[in-house]
Amino acid sequence: MESSTSEPTRITVAEGDGIGPEITTAVLRILDAAGCGLSYERISVGEKEYLRGENSGISKDAWAVLRRNPLFLKGPITTPQGAGYKSVNVTLRKTLGLFANVRPCRSLHPYVRTQHPGMDVVVVRENEEDLYAGIEHRQTTDVFQCLKIVSIPGTEKIIRYAFDYALANGRKKVTCLVKDNIMKVTDGLFSDTFRRIGKEYPGLAQEVQIIDIGTARVATQPGRYDVVVTLNLYGDILSDVTAELSGSVGMAGSANVGDHLAMFEAIHGSAPDIAGLDAANPSGLLNAACMLLVHAGKGAQAELVQNAWLSTLEDGVHTADIYREGLSKQRVGTRAFADAVIARLGRAPRELVAAKASGEPMPRYTYKRASPRKDLCGIDVFVCDERSAPDELAAKIRAAAGDILQLKLITNRGVKVWPEGFAETFCTDHWRCRFVGPSVKIHESKATYEVISPQKIIALLSALEENGIEVVKTENLYLFDGVRGFSLGQGE
Ligand code: NAD
Repeated sequence: MESSTSEPTRITVAEGDGIGPEITTAVLRILDAAGCGLSYERISVGEKEYLRGENSGISKDAWAVLRRNPLFLKGPITTPQGAGYKSVNVTLRKTLGLFANVRPCRSLHPYVRTQHPGMDVVVVRENEEDLYAGIEHRQTTDVFQCLKIVSIPGTEKIIRYAFDYALANGRKKVTCLVKDNIMKVTDGLFSDTFRRIGKEYPGLAQEVQIIDIGTARVATQPGRYDVVVTLNLYGDILSDVTAELSGSVGMAGSANVGDHLAMFEAIHGSAPDIAGLDAANPSGLLNAACMLLVHAGKGAQAELVQNAWLSTLEDGVHTADIYREGLSKQRVGTRAFADAVIARLGRAPRELVAAKASGEPMPRYTYKRASPRKDLCGIDVFVCDERSAPDELAAKIRAAAGDILQLKLITNRGVKVWPEGFAETFCTDHWRCRFVGPSVKIHESKATYEVISPQKIIALLSALEENGIEVVKTENLYLFDGVRGFSLGQGE
């Protein structure tokens, strides 16, 4: 909430890389001209810090400032593709527990050209988990792996936040996008949690869709969507789709909300192709700053700035990315765009819907871990073998395992290749060998798993090693209150 004293609210500001310094300067000039009552504690993060030898891209001093101020306005940061240092953005989001990434995208038709005049979608993206855990390994000559981590607290938090956001902002519907037909365990947890928590919000329409058709429909019929909640990777892609659909990737801002701190940024990157040219659109960062103002309890100031911005766009004063002959009136650079917004402070848009300070729900999540009974019932042993056919490999492994544990199946890239595999299935050098208790009957469609002792696993691994089988990784198989905590192999 806004303080009743006249003390300015101190926020952390990092201008970032590429176009970051230009758009940050433009946005802070607008906020100051609007009398938003902010003071800035500046830090440097990103490329400059790496070049100075700071491997994480964030110095100790910068972390201290970040932890001191609950609000953070951040410019875009360059991350190299493929090799090179890790993303500072991902480090910031995860280290500071910023679990919700909120990205509103609305069309500003007819002033900004868009194929979807009625679009007004908010993507609420899980921000800490999924494939962005960044846990990757090369396990064999052929095979590389990235772990997809989805937790109960992470999922409950983001889904509750999406419903609370919808309520706080007068939204009518929440759509959950997942791929639970394929990833039944991880995405299945997400959709099950959505359905369960959704019962606490009877006033909101709710639906679950598969991410592929969902994304296609968001791209072609965005009017069908209101608030969308999804996992990290899907949300990353989807929110760029929605931003681009609304006119330009340069327009949308986003909030990264945590229990203790919130970080606000444009959704676009550092745009090195136009850096230093005074050509960047500062609107994305400006919209992010307006979300920050709402978060700080400064809704009136957010409205003032947003309405001046909308008036600027209505007057046809456009940066190059949204400039269209016949539609726009004046093509301006970053500085002149900021001047134009400042000149319109106090004005409301004539036709575009004027801004109304929306609410940011306060995260109110408490997690109480349940204590299900957890029984070990088997192990998946991943082995590297470059030479054997599936039947030969099975024979070798069964001979090595003896009667310690029973080989149930072998898969290659998730597809069953033993028993009764197909000669047509392409095989790499990376095999998953599933072992279960010695007395489990394995050719039944509904296996009843037998609880095994951890000593069996140690004995099995020793036996495999002694027989020259190269184990590259293992995964224990557990039952939680008797329910399988692992997926079946394709064709199992
Ligand atoms: P980008 O968003 O930087 O640029 C994509 C295209 O959009 C470019 O043609 C660019 O000129 C244009 N564009 C982007 N922002 C604009 C603006 N405000 N005004 C006008 N045009 C704009 O995406 P990219 O080129 O894929 O990434 C560049 C770098 O930014 C990479 O290192 C990437 O990792 C990083 N990145 C950072 C963030 C972040 O800090 N949150 C987000 C995305 C990408």
